[in-house]
Amino acid sequence: MRKRTKIIATLGPSSSSPKIISNLIKEGTDVFRINLSHSNVSEIKNVIKILKDASMELKRPVATLIDLQGQKIRIKGFDNKEYILLKAKSEFILDAALADNKGTDLSVGLTYKDLPKQLDIGDELLLSDALIKLEVTNIQKSKIYTKVIRGGKLKPYQGVNKKGGGLSLKGITEKDKKDLTSAAKLDIDYIAVSFVKDANDIKAVKKIIGKKQIGIIAKIERSEALDNIDEIAKISDGLLVARGDLGVEIGIEQLPAVQDMLIRKAISFDKIVIVATQMMESMINNRVPTRAEVFDVANAVTSGVDAVMLSAETAIGSYPVDVIEEVSRICEVAEKTNRKNLKITRKDKSFVKTDQTIAMAAVYCADKSNIKAIATLTETGSTPLWMSRIESTIPIYAMTKNDRTSRRICLLKGVYSMKLDDIEYVHAKANKQVIDLMLEKGAVKKGDYVIITKGDLMGTSGGTNALKIVEVGNLIEV
Ligand code: PGA
Ligand code: MN
Repeated sequence: MRKRTKIIATLGPSSSSPKIISNLIKEGTDVFRINLSHSNVSEIKNVIKILKDASMELKRPVATLIDLQGQKIRIKGFDNKEYILLKAKSEFILDAALADNKGTDLSVGLTYKDLPKQLDIGDELLLSDALIKLEVTNIQKSKIYTKVIRGGKLKPYQGVNKKGGGLSLKGITEKDKKDLTSAAKLDIDYIAVSFVKDANDIKAVKKIIGKKQIGIIAKIERSEALDNIDEIAKISDGLLVARGDLGVEIGIEQLPAVQDMLIRKAISFDKIVIVATQMMESMINNRVPTRAEVFDVANAVTSGVDAVMLSAETAIGSYPVDVIEEVSRICEVAEKTNRKNLKITRKDKSFVKTDQTIAMAAVYCADKSNIKAIATLTETGSTPLWMSRIESTIPIYAMTKNDRTSRRICLLKGVYSMKLDDIEYVHAKANKQVIDLMLEKGAVKKGDYVIITKGDLMGTSGGTNALKIVEVGNLIEV
């Protein structure tokens, strides 16, 4: 059986050819992320086509996740220099009025012109994912005077974060709005919203997407997002623990506790949860991961995530396919070990919907009996979503005629997506169709018991109202 935890691979120069993409799928990639910080929507059409062709050929649904650039503050470019060297204790000026490509050893421009207004003397600024640390010593109009606390190489366009967060950047950027409008016209499955601050940011995205069936993932990478986490979780389809920027803002030592909190938060709201950044960082250049990286992936798995995400490892690294192979193996083994105490009981909740009630009942029954697998015929994917929010080791085979649904559910842990060309409308025939497909995929064998959930009116949304238990090889023939 395949691993339950899902893998997201970021596409980039190392991984955009048809051959590599096909190998990434074979080794266990379930979702492909395209980062709009490094490309624009017109450039990604081609790669989306390659993804669809590979997925068709391998008969494996895969989902696409488009990551918006968001409000990242960056320094501007230098004058004819690849980088500058900042020495500890020296003075360096960030100047919001300085143009692009005018930076020198003494000062550099900023992409956010209001930054000087938002800082106080004594604030700490972290550049280039906290490799470089500056302390604000004075502010005059557009100029932020700083003392270098931790020096190093500073390359152009590196990110700028304020320790502790609190910069009042609001809403989504014009670039994000444009990207969203054009991305929503493509056949994509998820949008990741960067630097989310509160529920309003997600509402703005939803307004642009309209009725399109695109899932929204909130990237949690600002400290403000943690203060508003309940409202963000409720309105999104999932949370992404963006440890890169988040670590810079809140301090890397805070990440383990916050990661655990976010995982539990997402699951308790019946949402998806993804852990990202530096999971296999050393494999950008090496063929094998460090022991610490193995532990990091395994820990994410036992903490109950839906997916782990690779960034530079697959986008620009030397061994994209080896990375996926390693992560798949680590997940598979970690899934067999004891889980942390994840039971999020829904004892205090009552189920409001029939399909949700059936989903909960199916997992509960399967866990307490000799059921080998659950098969769920789904139109929107909500039944497998609810099923997969409960901690269980029973595999869930989600079958659908709907193309989009078959791709979206690829991100749910423990759910195996199967695309059906057609669904039989006579129930006994549908049972046989489901079991035959599972036999063909090697998911069950003769004598196994399987739970099937479906609706009276198969193919309609929210219609799941039946739970059946069948024995493989002993079905009623019609
Ligand atoms: P990024 O976000 O890869 O878009 O920067 C992830 C993170 O900050 O961890
Ligand atoms: Mn980020």
